[in-house]
Amino acid sequence: MFRGIQYGILVLLLLCVSCVKQQQSSTTNSQLSTFSADSAYAYIEAQVAFGPRVPGTLEHSLCGDWLVAQLQRHGAQVQQQTGTMINYAGQQQPIRNITALIEGSSLPAILLCAHWDCRPWSDEEEDYDQRFQPVLGANDGASGVGVILEIVRQLASLKAQGQAIPTVQVVFFDCEDMGTPTHYTGQERPDTWCLGSQLWAKEYKLSTLNSQHSTLNIQYGILLDMVGDPLATFPREYFSMQYAQGYVEKLWRTAARLGYGRYFVRNTTYYPITDDHYYINTIAGIPCLDVIDYKEDTNTGFSSWWHTQRDDMQNINLQTLQAVGQTVITTICSR
Ligand SMILES: [Zn+2]
Repeated sequence: MFRGIQYGILVLLLLCVSCVKQQQSSTTNSQLSTFSADSAYAYIEAQVAFGPRVPGTLEHSLCGDWLVAQLQRHGAQVQQQTGTMINYAGQQQPIRNITALIEGSSLPAILLCAHWDCRPWSDEEEDYDQRFQPVLGANDGASGVGVILEIVRQLASLKAQGQAIPTVQVVFFDCEDMGTPTHYTGQERPDTWCLGSQLWAKEYKLSTLNSQHSTLNIQYGILLDMVGDPLATFPREYFSMQYAQGYVEKLWRTAARLGYGRYFVRNTTYYPITDDHYYINTIAGIPCLDVIDYKEDTNTGFSSWWHTQRDDMQNINLQTLQAVGQTVITTICSR
């Protein structure tokens, strides 16, 4: 993803990186909903064990198959969306998005999403040669997917116990992190990040325009990106506030109530990030917020391991995973 700084009084660099009142019944649900950070950690570790999941590689292909199997194991209706998008170099880039529907007792659905691909280049490495190595993506990719897999597991368990759960549409986006590498000297193209979410958002929008086709009605979306660092902070991101402010306030308030205010900081709205949620908001028209770890006091705007060889399991922390996972599952279960 991508720290895009733009808009109005904020003059921003463009650096690549990539509801309110609870009803009685839903309050009961939120009290029952639990989240296991150990399990989320294991889901992250399993993805990382494949190696860098760079699109076009065997590691990517095998991890994609594994993600499908995990979702199916918990009773989700899995569909894979394939297609192509134009990449930073003007070439056709194959896309494999993995979607899963968890049928609950209420509609509209809530979208939970993350990207599952790894960046092909560690282009924030100081050592030039290392910049051409792929990123392992423990935080940048696997962490959001791991937290969502654990939420899917918990929802399946609640459903099996006869509890009411929300209908959840999961999407794991491909090719989020293939934006123009810093070493590229060819013609600059727009919108080279988030290719998978652009494809998904376009097809979602098309399906809403086709009256013969019944489209799943999605109320709002939550995107998780880089949610495992021990010192993670999740400021209220600019585009999230612009397009989904009510949902940002609901989720950040839930975090504060659960005692996770040190992660979900509320006093600031930081610069915009061009992440998958941007295209979900602007193309699909679904209000979508981004829970993303970023900072104002670093050179890149992100943690020091970002887009380097050090994005590994050393920077995945159980307390942070618990804070994010418990906050998200509590929020979606208290409609
Ligand atoms: Zn990235």
